Amino acid sequence: MSLNIDTRAVHAGDRKKPGAAVPVTTPIYSAASYIYDETAVLDRVFGKEIAGDSYARYENPTNRALEEQLLALEGGAGAMACASGMIALQFALQAALLDRRKSVLAASALYGATINLLRNVFEPMGVEVTLVDICDLEAVAQAIQEARPGCVLMETISNPLLRVGAMDRIAEMAREAGAALVVDNTFATPMMARPLELGANLVVHSLTKYLSGHGDVLGGVIVSDEGHLDTIRTLGRTAGPLLGPFEAYLTMRGVKTFPLRFRRQCGNARQVAAWLESHPRVARVNYPAAADHPDRDVIRRLFPADLHGAMISFEIKDCGKPEIFAFMDRLRLVVRATSLGDVHTMMLYPAISSHREIAPKQRERMGIRDNLVRLSTGIESVEDIVADLEQAL
Ligand SMILES: *Cc1c(COP(=O)(O)O)cnc(C)c1O
Repeated sequence: MSLNIDTRAVHAGDRKKPGAAVPVTTPIYSAASYIYDETAVLDRVFGKEIAGDSYARYENPTNRALEEQLLALEGGAGAMACASGMIALQFALQAALLDRRKSVLAASALYGATINLLRNVFEPMGVEVTLVDICDLEAVAQAIQEARPGCVLMETISNPLLRVGAMDRIAEMAREAGAALVVDNTFATPMMARPLELGANLVVHSLTKYLSGHGDVLGGVIVSDEGHLDTIRTLGRTAGPLLGPFEAYLTMRGVKTFPLRFRRQCGNARQVAAWLESHPRVARVNYPAAADHPDRDVIRRLFPADLHGAMISFEIKDCGKPEIFAFMDRLRLVVRATSLGDVHTMMLYPAISSHREIAPKQRERMGIRDNLVRLSTGIESVEDIVADLEQAL
């Protein structure tokens, strides 16, 4: 039976049968290790001849249920739920590079900590890192020729300017060059894009954001194609990046309502973006549904017609840092905090947070000006979100 994403989110992973009765939802398995009646069976579990739990660094049933649920949304051969989005990214990159050239071609517009991961963890280990404008296909083709990367890394929707690269074309180019494509799909979610279907090899999410959705859990996931799954599992068993069972339980609970929440959040974003467009204090709005969006053709090709994400960034006229601070301090409902994707609407100021480490001149060149703020719309009534922005502007 082929089920819709709303249905899969609610049912997948749950109701495994531990005995005569089946729990309706998956319990929290906090045990560090597992007993078998016969040691010969444990021997076969350790030997990976049969599936079974033995030690919590390898896997645990709560995590496994979450992985099954996430796999049902994203597609792919297998998933590994991790303690954070960043550790998921680190392991995905390691798996991609394991038997390839130690060179990463990455989108220049990436989540700040991802740039730090490349610069502070991978480069010192001898991995070459090259950055490219992922929305410029000619530049990507040339960079692939020059850098001969073992791995290409991109985000489906960039932060905070919400640009969208032609993932299907980039996957083709990466494959021809023998490179793995790793995609951070956090902003788009599997409701808007399933990168494995578009040719990516490894997909990463910060579960902290839309998928768990309530601002109460930190987590990440790697969803892998067949070719990288064994490597991911082996790296995972060795180093133990797994999400804990309590967090896995909370995330699973969150994911059940993710499709509902995300549709509402996207609908709210569309209305808020339209309202901001017509506001006299607003100089510019970045939102993927805009008719003049620089990547509109790619957006039309890759995303569903009715979903354009729930992230907006906008510039406020004649504002420097002090005026932006004052504007943000006037917000009463919108939560002024880092992160995104929660049920509550959130605002972040890239110049002091996600893009703080980047020199102001460089930021300016990237198009991230001191009057730019980023909004993640929640599930509140859109009138209340707009009213709060209105009184603060
Ligand atoms: C938050 C985020 C991450 C990092 O995830 P954590 O759960 O904070 O480790 C990576 N990529 C993107 C796009 C994010 O928004």
